[in-house]
Formats: sequence, C-alpha cells, structure tokens
Amino acid sequence: MTARGTRRVRLADVGPTVFTRMSELAARHGAINLGQGFPDTPGPEHAVESAVAALRAGYHQYPPVPGLFELRRAVADHQRAQYGIDLDPATEVVVTTGASEALAAALLALTGPGDEVVVLEPYYDAYAACVALAGATLVPVRLTTPGFTLDPAVLRAAVTARTKVLLLNTPHNPTGTVLPPESLRQIAETARAHDLLVIADEVYEHLVFEGPPHQPVAALPGMAERTLTVGSAGKTFSFTGWKVGWATGPRELVEAVTAVKQYLSLGSGTPFQYAVVDALRLLPGHLAELRDSLRRRRDLLVTGLNAAGLIAHVPRGTYFVTADISPLGEPDGLAFCRSLPARCGVAAIPNQVFYADPQAGRHFVRFAFCKRRAVLEEAVARLATLRQTRPVPTLRTEGTNA
Ligand code: PMP
Ligand code: GLN
Repeated sequence: MTARGTRRVRLADVGPTVFTRMSELAARHGAINLGQGFPDTPGPEHAVESAVAALRAGYHQYPPVPGLFELRRAVADHQRAQYGIDLDPATEVVVTTGASEALAAALLALTGPGDEVVVLEPYYDAYAACVALAGATLVPVRLTTPGFTLDPAVLRAAVTARTKVLLLNTPHNPTGTVLPPESLRQIAETARAHDLLVIADEVYEHLVFEGPPHQPVAALPGMAERTLTVGSAGKTFSFTGWKVGWATGPRELVEAVTAVKQYLSLGSGTPFQYAVVDALRLLPGHLAELRDSLRRRRDLLVTGLNAAGLIAHVPRGTYFVTADISPLGEPDGLAFCRSLPARCGVAAIPNQVFYADPQAGRHFVRFAFCKRRAVLEEAVARLATLRQTRPVPTLRTEGTNA
C-alpha cells in the first residue's frame, strides 16, 4: 500500500496483535504457550455432539442477523436464572461473532469523533483498536496497585462533558480483578450522575474462584436502562474458536449493535449457535467442575511463578495471572516476553501493551492458566530455571504492539 493510502487507514500503525505475535514466537521455539488465552482441552462433550448433530441436520446457511431465536431465548433465560435480569429475547438480545464483534459493533454504533470512552487500564487491546476505528478518544482509568483496585476518585476525574461510554471489564483481563460490590456501586453512581452509557464486558462472568460472585453492572439500580452487557460462549464453555457471543440490554442499544453487526459479519456459526443453546441448558453442572479445576490450576501457576522469583498477583477471576518481573532484575516486560520462549520454553504476554503509556505496565507480564495440569507443571519447571539464564537477544524488534 502507498504511504498516501496507508494514511487513510485508521489503524495504519498496528500490526498483528500481541497475542498472534507471541503465539508465533511460541510455535517457532516449541514453547509452552501461556500467552494467548485459550484452553487446551475442549468444552462439554454434549455441546460438541449438538454441533455435530446440527451439521448433520443440514444447518449450513446464514442464521438470522440477530441470531437464532432459540439462542437469544437461552441467553435471556441465562441472565434471568443467574442474575434476575429480565430480557425480551426478541428485542433485547443479539448474538454476535464472539464478544469481539459485540464490542466492535457497540463502539462503532454508539461512539464517534468528539466522544470519550473511559476504560479501566490495563485494558484488553481490542478496546483501544475499536475506539480508534470509531474515531472516538480512549480515556484510561488506571487500576491502583498492588491489588489492581478501582479508585473512585480516579474514575470521577476521568469523566468530562465529552464522556459518552464507560467501557468496563469485570472479571478483568489481564489482572483477574473482580470488581467488588462497592466499586460497582461507585461506577453506577458516576454513570447515573453523568448520564453515561455503559458497555460491560463480562465474558469471564463464570470464572470467579472465591469471594463474592460476579455481579453484572446491569443489575444495579438505574443501570439496566443504560447498560449493554457482553458475554461469550468462548470463555464459559472453552470453545474460543466457535466465536459465539452476545450483547444484551435495552432495545435501543441492542438495535444499534445489530444495525452495525449486520455489516460486519451479518451472522455466523449457525451449527455452533444451536450447540450453545444446549451448552447453556447444562451450564450449572459444567461450571462447578470448570471453576474448581481452574482454581487449582491457578494456585499451581501462582506458586510456580513465585518460586521462580516473580511476584504473582493472585487473580480472583479469569484465567490469567499478572506477575511482577522486577525481582528478577528484568526492567522490561516486552523484552522479557520476546526472549522467554528461547530462554526457557514458555511464552507469555507483556502487560505494557494494555496501557496507553507502556512505561506504566513495563514490569508486569501475563500468564494464562487455562492449560492442562501436566502442561502447567512443565511450564513451572521451566520457569524455575529463569534465574540461571540471561535474556537472549530478541528475534524480532519491528512492530508497535509486540
Ligand atoms: N473481552 C475480553 C476481556 C477478552 O479477554 C476477550 C478474549 N478474547 C474478548 C472480549 C473477546 O471474546 P471472543 O473470543 O468471544 O470474541
Ligand atoms: N482473550 C484472549 C486473551 O486475552 C485472546 C485474545 C486474542 O487472541 N486477541 O488472551
């Protein structure tokens, strides 16, 4: 593309995501990939059987743009059963190509030039990209360390007359923070006081290991009418490749998402949409086992990271551990993650890519624990050799985001 042409692209300076780059690096070195967050075991067998049955039954064509009605009803039933939130499946639920499309469509539909979008920092990389695509402005609210908690004064200070949307993520990627009821109350207060829309990315809603369970922002007083909630079967059922997600909330917000989504994917994954109906029906049995096993794997990784000389922040939710690498004498997470696969056969994600100012997150690195126990044990054994090795020169230095 010509230099002139490139300037027309809103994300001209953005290459492959950090997840893609680190996964490539892991593959090149045969390293254990604790970078990109995807489970290495399949989700529930009955859901796989349902997908196969849907394929055999001939469901090969486009789904309706807002998603199969059966799935919209199943999502509405889920929100009622889990959280007491009442939704009309015909108008208040839209199925999307993963949570990714729900977030992109929501930001494109609801924000534009002149609008500010407040996000919790560190933030999932797609937020900054989608806000840029919409032509809006990202305003980060940094979580306070240690503990990655939300300071309500920092949140209030970030809100201006231009703020249009609070884009929240709880349970939070990459820190594993689950916002406590008090923080949610403060967020709701701010949103109501400034008449803000809220996009609540709750894709890790079911991956909470202890303490108060996840509480949806939309369930707080005065929030249902201003909140679009985003969910994903990828996280809840360990089917990240199926790309079935959804957005729920007031009719006008769901219509706005649907209007944009019809020009993004139109619709996708008809057989998988059928299978997710079945997966949601059998959710409770699946969850007990998933949570318990993930909690044990979290503990294994946290212990291993600490033994290797890092300081692991114990996440209450998600399947990520953020660890401080400074005790190893490592000043820079990006250089550390670029060298890690060659150095000890493990891949991870530098948290600095989740900050507007990369200096801020330089000493944090994220490791995923949604891997089989034996894989994590091997990763921990390899990480234990870290203190005896020196960083090796990085193989690739180009690119802005990894
Ligand atoms: N939000 C967050 C916080 C995530 O970690 C992810 C992970 N991919 C997504 C959204 C996107 O979810 P999906 O895979 O369903 O598109
Ligand atoms: N959500 C996953 C993660 O944070 C996958 C991200 C991606 O591949 N873009 O690791």
